[in-house]
Amino acid sequence: MSNIKVRFAPSPTGHMHIGNTRTALFNWLLARKLGGRFMLRIDDTDTLRSKKEYEDSLRESLIWLGLTWDEEARQTARMARYDEVVARLKAEGRVYPCYETAEELEVMRKRLLSKGLPPIYDRGALKLTAEDISRYEKEGRRPHYRFKLLPGSIEWEDMVRGHCRYEAANLADPVIIREDGSYLYHLPSVIDDADFGITHIIRGEDHVTNTAAQIQMFEALGAPVPRFAHLPLLTGKEGKLSKRLGSLGVRELRAEGIEAMAICSFLAKLGTSEAIEPFYDLTSLAATLDLSKLGRAQPKFDEAELKSFNTRFVRDMPYTGVKGRINSDERFWNAVRHNLAVVADIAEWENICHNRLTPRIENADFCKTAAELLPPEPWDEQTFSAWTNALKQQTGQKGRDLFHPLRLALTAAENGPELKVLLPLIGREKARLRLMGQPA
Ligand code: GLU
Repeated sequence: MSNIKVRFAPSPTGHMHIGNTRTALFNWLLARKLGGRFMLRIDDTDTLRSKKEYEDSLRESLIWLGLTWDEEARQTARMARYDEVVARLKAEGRVYPCYETAEELEVMRKRLLSKGLPPIYDRGALKLTAEDISRYEKEGRRPHYRFKLLPGSIEWEDMVRGHCRYEAANLADPVIIREDGSYLYHLPSVIDDADFGITHIIRGEDHVTNTAAQIQMFEALGAPVPRFAHLPLLTGKEGKLSKRLGSLGVRELRAEGIEAMAICSFLAKLGTSEAIEPFYDLTSLAATLDLSKLGRAQPKFDEAELKSFNTRFVRDMPYTGVKGRINSDERFWNAVRHNLAVVADIAEWENICHNRLTPRIENADFCKTAAELLPPEPWDEQTFSAWTNALKQQTGQKGRDLFHPLRLALTAAENGPELKVLLPLIGREKARLRLMGQPA
């Protein structure tokens, strides 16, 4: 086992959707490819919005997708550790109290913007005297805390974006603790990544500026800086990430019959220079992972494309992909899969082959002759051509006139899998009765 370790760090404030599935997937694939570990970290510091039901649902979706984890952690269980680190950073002057109200900050922001300046916090709090502070405290103001960035440039080699560089002077010192004492995401995330030995962080490009500040946090903790990969965010068909797309739930896709591995295959290659191809297990998908093949442009995610890919995926799926989920055996699966849109559609063909149906008789005499000519069992895929050749000779029918009445009588459907594979599945007794026009 290598020392590679990645994490997926969802906030349990919603269900698993296409966007966070993609983040989880890339992390999982990287761990698998490099022989590392995959950690699930529950970012539940926002106690108002975090819900147990969302956490349960995230876990259930991850398991269904096959993105299982080697270890897990929960941020609310680590508050004492965060407090300890913050005490040290306060003593070192890297974390400082601020007393501006939200309104005051907003006024400052507007003033800077109106002068054409970037709205960067002016560090007024660092100039407060002891009297100022005790006056604020008496007024009942509670401080929030910021992390002090050191001047200089912050640089990293991003596994997707290449060389990245930010000037600390162009960034605001991030708020890390709110007035009510609760933690914002930034610092706890870094403390966790450092303590758990996370080596690679793959996440959405909406975190790029956080990364710049977080690199200085790793340095302040004396921890090695992990490698970063920022994935371009998905966009909807209409251009920008729509609310609906952001919330397109894994549970809904699952309920609609979209296969877990179809979702993984699709998301792993979307926005890369590679074609989207079906992969039937995560390990072989992991072997193909190459972050340098991801483009910088935001890939378009189209639900209809995923659905049509899923159909292709199901039709090519080996029996191992459905074993244990369907009642039928491999022979049956291989016979009908090319006619399915989703796996559940197999029920229609199970019904046609095994349950009673009322045949549709187009040409009663012809069907009666066909019934008489049925060869004795055992049957295989050669049976159909032997039988229909005999029938053709006897009746003179050919082409559609030969085959269509047989399909209607045997399946009561206009279309479907090849009759040569269906016939042995239906069996002689049912076939004979149906050709005679009897429900069977
Ligand atoms: N909980 C954070 C989020 O969901 C994690 C971000 C990260 O991966 O660092 O955005």
